[in-house]
Amino acid sequence: MSTIKSDILVLGAGVAGLTTAIKLAKALPERKIIVATKANKEESNTKYAQGGIAAVWDEDDTFESHIQDTLKAGDFENNEEVVKIVVENAPERLNELIKWGADFDINSKNEYDLGKEGGHSANRILHHKDITGFEIQMTLIKQVESLSNIEFLAHHFAIELITEHHYTNKKIVFGEKNIHCYGAYILDEKTGEIDTYLAKKVVLATGGSGQTYATTTNPIIATGDGIGMAFRAKALVEDMQYIQFHPTALYEPGKSPAFLISEAVRGFGAYLRNETGERFMFKTDERGELASRDIVSRAINMEINISGAECVYLDCTHLDQEAFYKHFPNIVDKCKSIGIDVSKDFIPVLPAMHYMCGGVKVDIKGKTTIKNLYANGEVAKTGLHGANRLASNSLLEALVFGDIIANDIIENENELDVDFPNVPEWNTEGTTDPKELILITHNRKSVQNIMNDLVGIVRSNERLERALDHLNYIYEDTEKMFKRVTISPQICELRNINNVAYLIIIQSMEATKNKGAFYSLDLV
Ligand SMILES: Cc1cc2nc3c(=O)[nH]c(=O)nc-3n(C[C@H](O)[C@H](O)[C@H](O)COP(=O)(O)OP(=O)(O)OC[C@H]3O[C@@H](n4cnc5c(N)ncnc54)[C@H](O)[C@@H]3O)c2cc1C
Repeated sequence: MSTIKSDILVLGAGVAGLTTAIKLAKALPERKIIVATKANKEESNTKYAQGGIAAVWDEDDTFESHIQDTLKAGDFENNEEVVKIVVENAPERLNELIKWGADFDINSKNEYDLGKEGGHSANRILHHKDITGFEIQMTLIKQVESLSNIEFLAHHFAIELITEHHYTNKKIVFGEKNIHCYGAYILDEKTGEIDTYLAKKVVLATGGSGQTYATTTNPIIATGDGIGMAFRAKALVEDMQYIQFHPTALYEPGKSPAFLISEAVRGFGAYLRNETGERFMFKTDERGELASRDIVSRAINMEINISGAECVYLDCTHLDQEAFYKHFPNIVDKCKSIGIDVSKDFIPVLPAMHYMCGGVKVDIKGKTTIKNLYANGEVAKTGLHGANRLASNSLLEALVFGDIIANDIIENENELDVDFPNVPEWNTEGTTDPKELILITHNRKSVQNIMNDLVGIVRSNERLERALDHLNYIYEDTEKMFKRVTISPQICELRNINNVAYLIIIQSMEATKNKGAFYSLDLV
C-alpha cells in the first residue's frame, strides 16, 4: 500500500472528468493532476452518446428559446440561473472542443448540420453521425495524453472519499458544513493494492447509475459509484426520484445494456406506432413524437399496459433512406445485425433507464457540500435539468461546469499550498477472498430487478414500500459481506448500487407532487 500525493485528483474519465482535467492542466502547468478511471481509458457513458450536444448556433435560434425548452422539459423545477449560464456558455465551450479537435458533421452549405430532438423548438444539436460521444471521448483522451502534468490511470477503482471520518473520531452528519475531502482510497485493479491518493482538491466525475436497473441504456460501469461514495461521506444528494427513462431503447429481451435508438431518429421524422400500427403520441401531447422524454415514456408505458404488448415500434420506412443512413449508420447497422431492415421493418422499442437527473448537490461553482470536493457531469445535481433532462443537454452541462470548476480552482490556487493531515492507510484486517463471487452477482441482479419492477416509470406508495423492504435485506447482506471479503470492484459496485437504489426509493417516497420524470399513482 502506498500514499500518492497530487494537487488535484479527478475521479472519472468521461466528458466531465477529462474536460475539467484538461482545463486545469493547461492553466496550471506546474501542478500535478491525477485522473483515475476504473475501466479502460475510453469506457464511459460519454463514449455511447449518440445524438449530440445542444447549443444555440443557427442565427434564427436564440438563447431564450433554448432556456425555455430546458425549463419546460424540466417541468420548471430547474435552477434558472444555472440554465442561463449553461445555455449562454454553450457556443464558447463547443468552439473550444472543436479547437481541441472534435469533428462535427457539416451540411451541403458547409455549415454545421444541426439536428433536432424531442423537447427542442429549434435545430440546435451538433453531432458526429450517430457516434458523437465516441468522437468527443477520443478527442479529450488525445488532449489529456498531450499534457505532461496529467497522470492518467486506467483500471484504478475509487472505493471511498477520504474525509475527517478516516482520521478523527468526529461524528459526521449529512450536509455538515465543516467536512473536508483529502483524496480517495483507490484500488489498483492490476495489483489488488489499495493505495491512499491524497489531493488538495478532488473532482468527482464518476458518471451515472443506469446499472441500478435491469433495463438500461447505460454501460456496465454506470453503477453510481460517486453517489455512493459522496452519500457515505455525508454529502447532500438530491432529486434522485427524477430518473429519466429513454423512450426508445431497442427491444431485445435479455440484452443489457439495451442499445439506444437516439432521440434524433424521432427528430428526423420517425413515427411511434403501437401493436395495431396506430400513431399514438398525439393522444397525449400536441408535439407528438417530439414531446419530451418523460411524456413519451409514460405514453409508451400506457400503450403497453393497455395492449399487453411487449413493446411499441419506431417507423422509419417513410424517411429518405439515403439521408437516414448518412445520419444514423450505427443504428441502421445495429438493426440490420438483428434482421431488421429499417427501410421496410418497424424497429421494436421500449423505455429504459437512461439518465439520473439528480445527484450530488453542487452550487454555482460546482462545489459539493463537502469542502475541497467538486462534482461534475451526471454524478452532479447542478439544477440544470430540474425534474427531467432536455435531450443533448448533459454533455453540454459537463463541458460548461468543467470550465467553471477549473476556473474556481485556478482563482483559488493558493488553496493548493496546504499540508495534508495524517491519513491512515486502508485497513484490510480480517478480510479474505470471497468463496462465492456469485453471491455478489445475485444481489446485484436482485436490486436491478426490484428497481425495474417496483421503481419504474409509474410508481406508487405500495410499490415503493415493497421495494424498500426487499432492498433492506440485500443491503444488510452486502454490508456483512463487505466487512469480511477482500475488496473487489464487484462488492464496491454492489454497495454503490444499493445506495443509489435506496436514495431513489426514499426520495420518491418523500416527493409531494408529480413532476417531470417522477410519477406516482398516489400523487397529483
Ligand atoms: C447510450 C447513451 C446515449 C446518450 N446520448 C447522449 C447525447 O446524445 N447527448 C447528451 O448530451 N447526452 C447523452 N447521453 C448522456 C451522456 O452521455 C452522459 O450523461 C455523459 O456522458 C456523462 O458524462 P460523465 O463524464 O459525467 O460520465 P461518464 O461519461 O459515464 O464517465 C464516468 C467515468 O467515471 C469512471 N468511474 C466510475 N466509477 C468510478 C470509480 N469508482 N472509480 C474510478 N472511476 C470511476 C468511469 O470509468 C468513467 O470513466 C447518453 C447516454 C447514453 C448511455
